[in-house]
Amino acid sequence: MEIAVIGAGPVGLMLAAELRLGGAEVVVFDRRAAPDERPRANGLVGRIVEQLDHRGLLERFRAEAGYGGPLPRFPFGPVTLDFAPPSRPPLSALMVQQPRMEAVLAERATELGAEIRRGHELVSLDPFTVRGPDGEYRAEPRYVVGCDGAHSRVRELAGIGFPGTTDGELLRLGHFRADAPLFASATRGWDRRPGGRVLVTSLTPGVVIVGVREVTPEPPGEPTPEEFHAALRRVLGDDLPLGEPIWLSRTTSSARLATQYRAGHVFLAGDAAHLFPAGGSALNVGLLDAVNLGWKLAAVVRGTAGDALLDSYHAERHPVAARTLTQTRVQALLDRLTGEDGDALRTLFGELAAFPEAARHLGELLRDADALPYVPDLPLTVGGEPTRVAEVMRAARTVLFDFADRADLREAAGPGVKIVTAACADAPADALLVRPDGVVAFRGGAPADLREAIAAPGR
Ligand SMILES: Cc1cc2nc3c(=O)[nH]c(=O)nc-3n(C[C@H](O)[C@H](O)[C@H](O)COP(=O)(O)OP(=O)(O)OC[C@H]3O[C@@H](n4cnc5c(N)ncnc54)[C@H](O)[C@@H]3O)c2cc1C
Repeated sequence: MEIAVIGAGPVGLMLAAELRLGGAEVVVFDRRAAPDERPRANGLVGRIVEQLDHRGLLERFRAEAGYGGPLPRFPFGPVTLDFAPPSRPPLSALMVQQPRMEAVLAERATELGAEIRRGHELVSLDPFTVRGPDGEYRAEPRYVVGCDGAHSRVRELAGIGFPGTTDGELLRLGHFRADAPLFASATRGWDRRPGGRVLVTSLTPGVVIVGVREVTPEPPGEPTPEEFHAALRRVLGDDLPLGEPIWLSRTTSSARLATQYRAGHVFLAGDAAHLFPAGGSALNVGLLDAVNLGWKLAAVVRGTAGDALLDSYHAERHPVAARTLTQTRVQALLDRLTGEDGDALRTLFGELAAFPEAARHLGELLRDADALPYVPDLPLTVGGEPTRVAEVMRAARTVLFDFADRADLREAAGPGVKIVTAACADAPADALLVRPDGVVAFRGGAPADLREAIAAPGR
């Protein structure tokens, strides 16, 4: 076995597809016997949406999505960011429920040849042992990637620290079958009260989403409808006719970041590597971890890159999560700070965020918080046919875009690089070398610089 991915959540499935595109063998293990049908995320926001276009997945996701496209506004905690024209909105979104998202990703990974073993739980890393329906068995994967979520067993077994904070605020979130008129008096968005906050909203006709946040210890056992009623009475001072429960959950939010993303042959990605205390960023960052790591691991197992390339995964992705932790901590603070101090903070932050430059800066932090240069989706003409950069990137190969008939660069590129001679009115340079994850590793220059970028594409 070349690569074992632990966890068939969105990040593990995305990684499996990327590994297969790169030509690596992959087995995904998940302890759940069946896919997780809990609603959780309502969509994807940020650069991952553009990355799905690079893989030809945007259309499949759009078929599932309620909305797909640029966002004119987006909440930063309690403050609405307005990406008013003429500036191009920095954020794109696909509104698709997490179980549908996972179904699309599983279908794609399987089509590409990944094996998904559900009902198989990782027990130990050394020796690599999994407990399946027929008992425990061993394997010898060359690399193991923990995409096994917040309570990652891989992280624990690899001895990787997960410092940070978990706050005392409990979020109760439930979906209920109810008619909208029952909620005529309810507010949309979070209703801030002295004892906490309440959200009543609906994304699907006949289904109402109710959230209650309050500082309170987590009770034992599974969440119950009675508990939701009691929490509403405490925070709102009133009850709501919730209807028949479909799904109830309780979570406390955490702000945590793994100390390292790699320990020898073991890697972490997604929630196993980072937990953010405000919504909207976890899947964007987690799925982009998978895109960064997939081609690197595949190149190393295929023997076209050395093991050192794998160190660039931590170097490139850890700072992104650290920066995302900063912006989500601020969102959480803006949301949670109570009383007059909280009102003052929200008022002034809202005034600052109304400046277009500030809104754009925050929008870019939400988009990817990444300092690496990514290739823009330029319109091109290749062999007389119109196309786009995103379409050329579908095969997840390293591509040399030659915009100025640079025979010297084409010659220097060598056999592992796909060469695309293209006409482009907005070409940013004579030539670009673009990694499979869309990072520009070379931007015009001498053949020697191109050879260097190909030999050491990681930062
Ligand atoms: C209520 C709620 C709302 C959310 N809303 C949003 C949102 O709007 N936007 C957003 O971006 N994010 C949101 N999130 C967060 C998002 O759901 C997670 O970031 C995402 O699921 C993380 O994906 P993952 O693949 O890293 O981990 P997970 O989805 O947690 O998947 C981990 C998988 O690993 C498996 N596993 C664990 N241990 C083992 C083991 N030992 N052996 C084998 N398998 C194992 C588990 O069964 C699971 O399938 C929300 C989360 C919740 C709870």
